[in-house]
Amino acid sequence: MNWLLRKCSKCGRYTLSRDRCPYCGGELIVPHPPRFSPIDKYVEYRLKEKLSKGIIKLDEKPPYKP
Ligand SMILES: [Zn+2]
Repeated sequence: MNWLLRKCSKCGRYTLSRDRCPYCGGELIVPHPPRFSPIDKYVEYRLKEKLSKGIIKLDEKPPYKP
């Protein structure tokens, strides 16, 4: 249920509040953003296409952190 958590950008506390930090009133951020942005919705397909054409290869480091 990590995506329900918000993190305060001011004091760094985690909260389930969706609005403002209950501790300091700071702005809340999502500590676990979605893996793909809506703009890059088709990045997976583009990646597969590039892979199939040999433009990029999978022997490089993965683009995400473990
Ligand atoms: Zn705070």
